[in-house]
Amino acid sequence: MSARTLSAETIQLIAQEVRTCTLCGLASGRTRAVPGEGPADARIMLIGEGPGFHEDRQGRPFVGPSGKFLDDLLALAGLSRETVFIANVVKCRPPQNRDPQPDEIAICTEHYLYRQIVALDPPVIVTLGRFSMGLFMPGERIMRIHGQPRNIDGRLVVPMLHPAAALHQPQNRPLIEADFRRLPEILAQAEAALRPAAAAPKASDEPPLEQLSLF
Ligand code: URA
Repeated sequence: MSARTLSAETIQLIAQEVRTCTLCGLASGRTRAVPGEGPADARIMLIGEGPGFHEDRQGRPFVGPSGKFLDDLLALAGLSRETVFIANVVKCRPPQNRDPQPDEIAICTEHYLYRQIVALDPPVIVTLGRFSMGLFMPGERIMRIHGQPRNIDGRLVVPMLHPAAALHQPQNRPLIEADFRRLPEILAQAEAALRPAAAAPKASDEPPLEQLSLF
């Protein structure tokens, strides 16, 4: 069985578990859980906060107004949503779209999100908003570090503003657009560092993951 098939099966298995999950209180208020979606060989994983009204109804991530904007942002990077994996920190909608609570985040990430990351093993993770950023860069402030990739466990994690923050505060729009425009370059850097032989056949004696720390 190929690594890709194994990864796709694991992603499917996690999605089934999410759809029937009752591990925290969010389960009782949901219409549908939102496991996340995208190809198992996606090179970029985007992680939002949690489902909103439309996502809860459809069981799919980012399908409301901020999802439409996310599609536009991906287009700025020459990407479409079919080529990336889109997930959330919590998989069920918090009541009235309140912030997810620490215990909800802990349960949902340990059981689902971190397993999704291991299965996909993407070279680039884009965090959308402060809750997602906080998983990888606790204590940081999004306005200070947005758009700056960081090497975490051999992949590049890029903190970005949440699309809804740009929709509601127009002064944020150029910031998030500029960050998305840089995604192809960041992916190329990550791919080159992870697979130096494919990117530069003669540089095979360079230490691959150490290159990431140069970014
Ligand atoms: N906002 C999020 O963070 N995730 C979604 O899926 C939709 C809106």
